[in-house]
Amino acid sequence: MNHTEENSNVEEVSAQFEDFLRSSGLRLTQSRMDVLNQVFAYPGHFQIEDLLVQMRQNGYKVSRPTIYRTLPLLVKSGLLTEFIDAHKNTRYERIHSLQEHAHLICLRCGQIVEFIEPEIESLQKAVCEAHRFKPVRYRNEIIGYCSECQAELEPTSDTEKQ
Ligand SMILES: [Zn+2]
Ligand SMILES: [Zn+2]
Repeated sequence: MNHTEENSNVEEVSAQFEDFLRSSGLRLTQSRMDVLNQVFAYPGHFQIEDLLVQMRQNGYKVSRPTIYRTLPLLVKSGLLTEFIDAHKNTRYERIHSLQEHAHLICLRCGQIVEFIEPEIESLQKAVCEAHRFKPVRYRNEIIGYCSECQAELEPTSDTEKQ
C-alpha cells in the first residue's frame, strides 16, 4: 500500500516539475528526471554533495554541474525547499506533502529537529492577511544549541560539585 502511494507521488511530482519546466521553455530530460527521483528518495535534509554521493552509489552517472543546475529548478517549481544550516551551508529538503514544518538547528552539532506548531502557522497566516500578502510556503528556522550541547558547553552546578 505504501509502495503504491509512493508511486503515485512520484508521478504527481514529475508532472508538476514537467509543467514548471515547460512554462520556462525547458524539457524534462532524463538527467533532470534522475535528479528529481533521487531528491525524493533522499531521507531528510541534504547538501549538494550528499545527493551526488547518493546518486553515484545508486549507479547514476550524474555530473556535479547537472545537480547544481537542477536543484534551483526544483526549488522554483515548488517541490524542493532550501535553507541555510548552522554552518551557513545551503541544505535542501523535498516538500513533504502539504504540511509545513519548522526547524531547530543546533550551531554546535548541526542536528536539525523538525517541529510543527499550529499556533505559529496561524500567526503567520494572520500576518500575511494583515499585509494582504499571499503566502506560497512558510519557512522557519530557529538557530541555537540543542539540550545535549548546552549540557556540554555549560556544565551545570551539579557536575561542578563532583
Ligand atoms: Zn547540538
Ligand atoms: Zn525539515
